Amino acid sequence: MLTEELLHEALEYGKVFVQNGQTAQYIPELRHVNKYYLGICAMTLDGQIYEAGDTHIPFTIQSISKMVSLLLAIQDCGMEFLFHDKVGSEPTGDPFNSIVKLETKSRPFNPFINAGAITVASCIQGKDADEKFERFLTFTRRLCDNQDISLNQEVYESEKLTGDRNRALAYYLKASGILEGNVEECLDFYFKMCSVSATAYDIAHMSLILANHGIDPKSGEELIPQKYAKAVRALMLTCGMYDGSGEFAMTVGFPAKSGVGGGIAVPLVGRMGIGVFGPALDEKGNSAGGIKMLEYLSKKLNYSLF
Ligand code: GLN
Repeated sequence: MLTEELLHEALEYGKVFVQNGQTAQYIPELRHVNKYYLGICAMTLDGQIYEAGDTHIPFTIQSISKMVSLLLAIQDCGMEFLFHDKVGSEPTGDPFNSIVKLETKSRPFNPFINAGAITVASCIQGKDADEKFERFLTFTRRLCDNQDISLNQEVYESEKLTGDRNRALAYYLKASGILEGNVEECLDFYFKMCSVSATAYDIAHMSLILANHGIDPKSGEELIPQKYAKAVRALMLTCGMYDGSGEFAMTVGFPAKSGVGGGIAVPLVGRMGIGVFGPALDEKGNSAGGIKMLEYLSKKLNYSLF
């Protein structure tokens, strides 16, 4: 049974694995984050909230933002167009920022690798990067049920200044006819969405909405159409932890989306939403302690999908 004590046990177990991880080094502003932060929050469909550790420390959501932008792009362009013309829905087995498959395939493999997410970002409607970002922020705030969620300006500037690999991906996509419009505008929006700051508590709420088929259990309001929530959860399972997705499915068995800020969003359908924060990353860019906490919970609760 899920209890706060169980979360504390998971936290203690996860802490053991933090030592060997490190914060994202390729984003200068993330190098300074205290790598020993670790926290987990679970919100159940019937309104219970359980927390252990650093659940109220803000961190940049990074690739967790790719779920939100994907949902906006689906709304704007439709699933058929997006998954037919712009991105695929297959795992790559490559690192999240890999460029290698772009030349051999007509479009990025999935919307969660950087190439796919940058493409998806270009499909969101708005007259400029600012308007797109306003829409992104409004939707993120609703999903997290927190109106205070905002941009971490330092991380945004740091990513924009050093994001040459993402710039390379974007210009390549433009040259291939996949990315349309102004490349720098698209990247500006992409760097901003990655640099939005939230807590494990906020991410648990976002996950709760996905776990409840897109409906806010408190208000009964539909924030995400059911079939889109289902598609996003499926992509989380197959591609959400990048080239660690297969192993994560074996050892944990939850749909999950990680970010290099150390966050992980986990929607357990019909049960709960989980938000994790642990900025010490493993070599694949996933939270080292976070994965271990989830592994502990999965085993103790016997909640693996498999
Ligand atoms: N902003 C990061 C990047 O583009 C997001 C990557 C991640 O969280 N895995 O490199």
